[in-house]
Amino acid sequence: MVFYILFLVNFCKRIFYNIDIKTLYMAYTGGELNELNGKMGISAPKRSVPVMKLIKIHKPKSKDALVELIEYHKNNKCACGVVSTGTVKEFGERLFESQEKYWQKNKYTLGECIQWEYDLFVVQSLKGGFIEKNAISILKDRLSNMIVEEAKGYLDDVLRVDIIIFDLNKNIIGGIQVKPKTFKNMRPEVQLMQSKQNVKWGHPVWMLYYNRDDTFKNLNALIEYINNNKAVN
Ligand SMILES: [Zn+2]
Repeated sequence: MVFYILFLVNFCKRIFYNIDIKTLYMAYTGGELNELNGKMGISAPKRSVPVMKLIKIHKPKSKDALVELIEYHKNNKCACGVVSTGTVKEFGERLFESQEKYWQKNKYTLGECIQWEYDLFVVQSLKGGFIEKNAISILKDRLSNMIVEEAKGYLDDVLRVDIIIFDLNKNIIGGIQVKPKTFKNMRPEVQLMQSKQNVKWGHPVWMLYYNRDDTFKNLNALIEYINNNKAVN
């Protein structure tokens, strides 16, 4: 009997565990929700909140702190100048409500939509900083005879470059943008805007993508490319 109960408990645990993993995975890759969010512009910084800017200024230490920070910038006029048009929950509600217009029906529940925006604004945004630092340490190690630095200020805010590569005389070789794989599904206008600004900078900008498990998708290829092409620039 005891054995039977233990078996049942384990069985239920396993089911819950699987649901959790499935929900998390869906939240990250998004699939359809990613498409909906992008096409309807739900998370566009001007229509939601410039979350990376908020993180840089206020440096939240936890996910909860970031959720509160977003809410604070909706309800208060902060000296930093960042304004949020809503809370994470409200971004989720906007995603939920936009389904009707896009698909003529609701495919996902309100809970799933809020979870998806939470994952995008909170989980992925906080991950970004960690991933960026990890990329910098690997690049420093593997780009011999080059200087690798984190981009700061204007470059980062306007040109969207996260990392800058210099030669030993401090001439710029190029810049790197670190993005989650889902960036590829962004609205074409956003991508265009980014490439235009990059052209203005006058140096090549390369994309470094990371996967759900924090591994880099194209780091080796990128390192090889930069090592082979630095003479050209
Ligand atoms: Zn602020």
